[in-house]
Amino acid sequence: MAQALLFDGPPARLRLVEQPRPEPRLSEVLVRVEAATLCGSDLHTLAGKRLVETPTVLGHETIGRVEEIGPGYPPRCLGGEILHVGDRITWAVVVHCGACVPCLRELPQKCIRSVKYGHEPWIDRRMWTGGLATWNLLAPGTSIARLPTGLPAGMTTPASCATATICAALEALGPISNRHLLITGAGMLGLTATALARRMGTGSITMVDPIPWRCEKALLMGANRAIGAFSSGAGKLEPVDAWLELSGTNTAWESGFDMLAVGASVVLVGAVFPAPDTCFNLERVVRRMITIRGVHNYAPRHLSMALGLLEKLGSAHPLGGLTGPWFTLANHAEALKVAADPQVLRVGFRPE
Ligand SMILES: [Zn+2]
Ligand SMILES: [Zn+2]
Repeated sequence: MAQALLFDGPPARLRLVEQPRPEPRLSEVLVRVEAATLCGSDLHTLAGKRLVETPTVLGHETIGRVEEIGPGYPPRCLGGEILHVGDRITWAVVVHCGACVPCLRELPQKCIRSVKYGHEPWIDRRMWTGGLATWNLLAPGTSIARLPTGLPAGMTTPASCATATICAALEALGPISNRHLLITGAGMLGLTATALARRMGTGSITMVDPIPWRCEKALLMGANRAIGAFSSGAGKLEPVDAWLELSGTNTAWESGFDMLAVGASVVLVGAVFPAPDTCFNLERVVRRMITIRGVHNYAPRHLSMALGLLEKLGSAHPLGGLTGPWFTLANHAEALKVAADPQVLRVGFRPE
């Protein structure tokens, strides 16, 4: 038998169900889930701040081992290699069709015919698409990546949401080598961005986050300075060439905007929930030749980039320590209690 943790709607109504093991059909891949972490958007869903069709199984940061491959042409991984039973893998959140308008415009994450792991209702072939379950049944066309060997689950499990999203944001930001980078928001995204940007050779990193514990972690990840508010660094902060906005707050936007150097590039990622409008000075955008872009989710290549960068960081990097503690599916109530602690960035589940 297989277990799945079903979400019946807010506030956090969860129940564990038992079902027979699913059988993979044509070109489907059955994966035994090794670990899954709850990302910020899962917590928003559990709290009712984001509406989903229920019942559903949450979790879209998932790793596992290929147990069985359905009949048909053998699936290939993102690197082009054939997928085998026994491979340890992760997979992109969005399965895209490749033929709709957003897909043809190179925005596969906005595919209008997508399957989205951790976001599908508990019916038919989409039952096993959330990470909080014994199995995941991968749909044909899923972007699958083999995990680098030797990395702890704490490092690779967030790859399919947090790490890959940061790779998409860093790509959109343009070259960061020897540039001064500002990051606002030191949650899992901001701390991951700090570690990856440092590895990519950015000149210096300034982190701004109101929580002192998070600022300490940012320094551990490689930030040159970490401050609670822009005002606390007044007079000392130099103009920035690149800015990753991950907090999603208007206050960060309004203060950070004043810091931008000529030719600066800004990527907005954090604002994924409803908020009041904000305003900014258009003349300054023009005269300083500023580029502003929004990035939501990522394309399959960013998952490959994420795993490549994690491999370069290596198993000893403190990034892996940001994930956990870990729970069984049956311990979900305790896991959610722990997830409310601001010093916990990613609770994890290891289905049995
Ligand atoms: Zn996510
Ligand atoms: Zn499409």
